[in-house]
Amino acid sequence: MANHKQIAVVGGGLVGKATAVAAASAGFSTIHVAPRTPLDRRTSALMGPSVTYMIDAGLIGDPETLGVPLSRIRIIDATERLLRAPETVFNAAEFGHRAFGWNFANARLGESFSQAGATRDNLELRAASLGTARRLDESWQLELDDGTALTADLLVGADGKGSSVRKAADIGVRERNFEQAAMVCDLELGRGLDGESVEFHYPNGPFTLVPAGEKRANLVWIDALEVLEDARRDAERLASLLNEKSRHLFGVIKVVTPSFVFPLSMLSVEVAGRDAAVLVGESAHAFPPIGAQGLNLGLRDVASLNACLNAANPGSYGWADAVSRSYAAARRSDLTRTGAFVDGLFTSLLSPHLPAQALRSAGLWGLKTVPGLRKHAISFGMGQ
Ligand SMILES: Cc1cc2nc3c(=O)[nH]c(=O)nc-3n(C[C@H](O)[C@H](O)[C@H](O)COP(=O)(O)OP(=O)(O)OC[C@H]3O[C@@H](n4cnc5c(N)ncnc54)[C@H](O)[C@@H]3O)c2cc1C
Repeated sequence: MANHKQIAVVGGGLVGKATAVAAASAGFSTIHVAPRTPLDRRTSALMGPSVTYMIDAGLIGDPETLGVPLSRIRIIDATERLLRAPETVFNAAEFGHRAFGWNFANARLGESFSQAGATRDNLELRAASLGTARRLDESWQLELDDGTALTADLLVGADGKGSSVRKAADIGVRERNFEQAAMVCDLELGRGLDGESVEFHYPNGPFTLVPAGEKRANLVWIDALEVLEDARRDAERLASLLNEKSRHLFGVIKVVTPSFVFPLSMLSVEVAGRDAAVLVGESAHAFPPIGAQGLNLGLRDVASLNACLNAANPGSYGWADAVSRSYAAARRSDLTRTGAFVDGLFTSLLSPHLPAQALRSAGLWGLKTVPGLRKHAISFGMGQ
């Protein structure tokens, strides 16, 4: 059949682009259904294993040319609570690493992933949205909003939180929306961060400055939506709030790009794949940007799908269904563990209850003073 592909990847975010490259590199005829979208202004802290995957998969070259190394992480309890946590610093050198990872602008990563895709002859890019998807006679029948109809053996949903692929595959989802949102923008500091990511933990959420080279920093500020909307109404007021919230530790802070606000939610799925459909990235999991886990987990989805595709026998009957089942089994524990980790971090920070605050405080004391615990936490946070 002319309009048939072995794999259709839906969604042109970073995870969709990485998946399309992985599918084509594994030798499958692939279509990438990716509508044009506004520039992604976020940045992502990606840990060592994610960076290694991107290099090995040919998605990026030398990370030094694209991103900024993250060599230290400092956590400052900025709550006025009775039970406060100690200031804690993690230094990559202490764990034998030059850096925990790199901070990348999503737009630059996207460009690099697209360039990698353009070199794969068996990868067709279609700037359209998925309209409908139905499973019939062992294949997925797809209609795109540009009028194209096609079939595919394996359908990959990389189409974000509201995933149409997830709905078509009838995969159950649990979602919780938060009152908090995240503001991002770029800052010029009076004094550079020198590779250190600094997280101030406020009762409404973390306020994080991530090094972006020289005196630049990327802000990720989580707070109640109305607080953020109010703060960004007036540029001068925003700058003054940022100086205050960073406790004037970095000299005078200037806001150098427009700010963007992202609503936050927690999302998990009953299963990450079945019936020849698989979910990667935020179609399968989403959480607040705390502990830099989202895209790291998404890239682990891609690596795992890549392994399943390399082990598949595309000549055999039902190969795509077998891939969806092996992928779902391979992803189950990582998705559950990471979701629980981020939920625990976020909920304990926001909790007004003393027992939860005591537990968090004790946890951070442990991380500050017990070497084994520090090492374990860092390995976990890095996705190792
Ligand atoms: C403020 C903030 C900071 C963050 N910082 C970090 C960090 O430091 N480290 C980290 O690891 N993670 C971080 N994350 C998380 C990370 O950004 C996400 O996990 C990642 O971008 C998700 O990528 P994705 O491709 O799965 O989803 P998306 O980027 O949402 O892409 C989904 C795509 O699917 C497309 N789509 C939707 N419907 C259809 C359809 N019907 N047909 C075709 N296409 C469709 C959309 O247009 C979109 O392009 C952060 C998140 C936020 C909000």
